Amino acid sequence: MRLVLLGAPGAGKGTQAKKLIDKYGIPQISTGDILRKNVADGTPLGKEAKVIMDAGGLVSDKIVLGLIEDRLKQSDCKKGFILDGFPRNTAQAQSLDGILKNLGMPIDSALSVDVPKDDLMKRLTGRRTCKGCQQMYNVYFSAPKKDGTCDKCGGALFQRDDDKEETIKKRLDVYEAQTAPLFDYYGKKGILKSVMGVGSIDEIFSKVCKILGS
Ligand code: AMP
Repeated sequence: MRLVLLGAPGAGKGTQAKKLIDKYGIPQISTGDILRKNVADGTPLGKEAKVIMDAGGLVSDKIVLGLIEDRLKQSDCKKGFILDGFPRNTAQAQSLDGILKNLGMPIDSALSVDVPKDDLMKRLTGRRTCKGCQQMYNVYFSAPKKDGTCDKCGGALFQRDDDKEETIKKRLDVYEAQTAPLFDYYGKKGILKSVMGVGSIDEIFSKVCKILGS
């Protein structure tokens, strides 16, 4: 399976991707995660990206395409992959098609996870991540037992800089303007599918599996 996950920030693409990894044994490739790792490691690329990420904008296509091409060439992608948060605009989608054509492994589905805007705001502003084990919580829907502390490892929970309210508004605007045209892009190729991303994680996942034909 070679899958692109589409959907607004907070739609739950990452959560569904993690369940797909377990089911299919293929890697999830999240450009957001790769960029955040660079930020945490203080690499030159991370320093450049952080300013843009904190403002809710898109990191340059050149940077992101370089990261993606390197990752897709790794051997674990031969059996398939799930792209999460990439592509984010039409130029990235076109470049991705070029890279995958050269590698002989084109995308077979683009799955859109659809969530109403009000829900997205709560999901994003409420999101907290453990510094220790990266476990995710939401103060509205899945709060930890003890405020600010991870149930699993006792680590401190933090809010991503780009999950602050103002940045979220910007990210959602950028999504509408730049990423939403990808529905058309993949629709025209005849590989676009969509799922309502509301309900429990497991309910959504069972719909995802049905739609993907498994
Ligand atoms: P995400 O976790 O996917 O929402 O990504 C967090 C932030 O990383 C985004 O708001 C962008 O600033 C940046 N980012 C992630 N993926 C991309 C991409 N494909 N193109 C440009 N910027 C990206």
